[in-house]
Amino acid sequence: MNQPVMGGVAALNVPAYIKHQKLINWVAEVAALTKPARIYWCDGSQEEYDRLCGEMVAAGTMQKLNPAKRPNSYLAWSDPSDVARVEDRTFICSETKEQAGPTNNWTDPAEMRRTLHGLFDGCMAGRTLYVVPFSMGPLGSPIAHIGVELSDSPYVAVNMRIMTRMGKAVYDVLGTDGDFVPCVHSVGAPLRAGQQDVSWPCNPTKYIVHYPETREIWSFGSGYGGNALLGKKCFALRIASNMGHQEAEQGGAGWLAEHMLILGVESPEGKKHYVAAAFPSACGKTNYAMLIPPTGFEGWKVTTIGDDIAWIKPGADGRLYAINPEAGYFGVAPGTNEKTNFNCMASLRENVIFTNVALTDDGDVWWEGMTKEAPAHLVDWQGKDWTPASGTKAAHPNARFTVAATQNPVIDPAWDDPAGVPISAFIFGGRRSTTVPLVTEARDWVEGVYMAATMGSETTAAAAGQMGIVRRDPFAMLPFIGYNMGEYFKHWLNLGKKVGEQHGSDVLPKIFCVNWFRTDADGKFVWPGFGDNMRVLKWKLDRIEGTVGGTENIFGTTPRYEDLNWNGIAFTREQFEQITSIDTDAWMEELKLHDELFQKLEGNVPQELAKAKAELEKRLAA
Ligand code: GDP
Ligand code: PGA
Ligand code: MN
Repeated sequence: MNQPVMGGVAALNVPAYIKHQKLINWVAEVAALTKPARIYWCDGSQEEYDRLCGEMVAAGTMQKLNPAKRPNSYLAWSDPSDVARVEDRTFICSETKEQAGPTNNWTDPAEMRRTLHGLFDGCMAGRTLYVVPFSMGPLGSPIAHIGVELSDSPYVAVNMRIMTRMGKAVYDVLGTDGDFVPCVHSVGAPLRAGQQDVSWPCNPTKYIVHYPETREIWSFGSGYGGNALLGKKCFALRIASNMGHQEAEQGGAGWLAEHMLILGVESPEGKKHYVAAAFPSACGKTNYAMLIPPTGFEGWKVTTIGDDIAWIKPGADGRLYAINPEAGYFGVAPGTNEKTNFNCMASLRENVIFTNVALTDDGDVWWEGMTKEAPAHLVDWQGKDWTPASGTKAAHPNARFTVAATQNPVIDPAWDDPAGVPISAFIFGGRRSTTVPLVTEARDWVEGVYMAATMGSETTAAAAGQMGIVRRDPFAMLPFIGYNMGEYFKHWLNLGKKVGEQHGSDVLPKIFCVNWFRTDADGKFVWPGFGDNMRVLKWKLDRIEGTVGGTENIFGTTPRYEDLNWNGIAFTREQFEQITSIDTDAWMEELKLHDELFQKLEGNVPQELAKAKAELEKRLAA
C-alpha cells in the first residue's frame, strides 16, 4: 500500500505494466486536485476483490453473509438519503444548451467545471483513490470502448469488477496511447486526520455530470448504483448515445446505445431469434431477459445476452447487430422469487453483493416478495429490528443485487461474442395501469419510432422523486439520452431509412409496444406477467414469420384472443378484453400528452413523427 507523502500528495506508485503516459498524468492531476491519502491501482484479481470486501466489512460498509446460506456474498446498507439515481442532479454539459436539448439539465461547461473544481478540491482527503480500468464490451473487440474510473469508494471498485470487464488486461488493450473515457467519482466526504468514518459516506450535494465533447464523466456526492458505477448509465448510455449519434453526423449510419435487454428465443424446431426490449428502470428488463417459458411452451428456450443496455450497429448485411456492453446485472431485488424468476434466484446463490435488502437472523437476505410470508424477525435495510407488524418495508423498494452475468443459468452462448447478435424485433414497454394495450405491432419503422417516442410510464423507486406518476419516457431513455431528444428521434429515423434504402425495409427489426401492468378495479395486475409474457413473445415471433393474424386498429396490429396460445393458463376472453381494450376518450387524453412532449421539443420534432401523429388523430376521430 502506498504511504502518503508529507505535504499531502499521495505517491503515485504506478505499476510497471502501465505504459500509458497520458493516463498516468491524468491520475496525477486528479490526485493533485482531490488529495487522497493513498492511490491504489486495481488489477481486477479475485484476491483484490476479497481483500477490498474484507476491508469494507471491517469498516462497517458491508456485512459478510452466512457462508453456509449465501457463500462469498455481502450486504451493504446505504445512507437512507442515497438509494437511487438522482435525475434532477444529472447534467449534460455540452457546448450549447441546444445540444443537450430541453429534456436534459444543462449548465455551461466552463461554469460547471468551476463548480466541480471547488467541490473536488480536497474531496478525497483521508481516503484511497482507486484506479478502476474497465472495458464496456468484450476486451479488445472493435465495438468495445474503454473507460477508467477514479473513485474514492471501494464499494464502487468491487461492483465495477462484477458489472464490467475490469482489471489489468484493460491496460494491454490501451497500450501506450489508446483512447479511454475518463470517469471521476467521489462520495464527497473527505476525512480530517483522526476523524472516524461512517459506514456509507456520501454528500447531500450531488452532481452527475457529463461533458459530451470531451467524453468525460464527473460524479460527486453519491455512492449508489447508476450515480456511481460510471460504466453503466453514464458511459454506456449517455456518453455512448453521443458517440453513436456523432458517427452518423460524420456521414455514416452511426449506431445506437439503448436501455435494452437482449434475449435469444429458440423454438422446439431449433429456429432462433434475438429480440431487444426497452422498459424504463424497474419495469421488467432483468425479468424478461431471464424469462422461463410457461406450461404450453414445452421445448422453447429463452437465453440472456444482456439485461439493461444494448449497443446496436448495422452489419454488412443490413441487419442490426447488438452487444451487451456489461458483464453483470445490477438488478431490483424486491418482487424477485423462485416463482416469478427462478433463473434470477439461481444466479443469486453465491458471489453476490446485495444493497439495501433486509438481513435474516441466520445471516441471509430477504426482501418483499421473496417468500409469501415474511420471516418473524429481520433487521431492515436501515439496520433496525423489523417484524411483519412493523408496517414498513424491510428492504428498500430499489434494493439491488450485483452479480456476474456468468452466474445466470440461461446465459446465451453468444453473450460474449464481439460480433453481436442480429435483432429480429424491438419491443418498447412502460408501466401503465390504464390506456395502453397488452401488445401492439407497428405497421412500419416510422410508426414504431412514433410509438417508442411517445410512450409513457409510471415513475418507480429506481429514481429519486415521487412514484407512480405517468411521464413521457421516450424509448425508456428519458434520463439517458446524452444529447437533444429531437436529434435522437431523427437518428433512429435516419438509421432505419439508410438501412432500408440499402437492403430493403424487410431487413429492419419489427417494432412492438407492450404493457404488462394494466390493473383491475381493485388495483391488481390483470396480466400474470413474468413467464407468461412468453405468450406475447410467441405472437411476435409468429408475426415475424408471417404465420399468425391479428386485427388492425388505430395504432397498428394487435392479437385477437384466439391468436395467443392459452395452454396451461386459465385466462378468459373477458380478462383479455380488460388488458387489450382501447378507450377512445382515454387515447384522446393520451394524445394531449404526446402534444406536450412535442411542444417541449421546441420545433425539433422530425416531420415524419408529426405526420404519424396527424394520421393517428385522424383514425382516432373517425
Ligand atoms: P428492470 O429494472 O427494468 O430490470 O426491472 P426488473 O426486471 O428488475 O423488475 C422490476 C420490478 O418489476 C420487480 O419488482 C419485478 O418483480 C417486477 N416485474 C418484472 N416483470 C414483471 C411482469 O411481467 N409483471 C409484473 N406485474 N411485474 C413485473
Ligand atoms: P435499472 O437501472 O433499474 O434500469 O436496472 C439501474 C440504475 O438505475 O442504476
Ligand atoms: Mn434491471
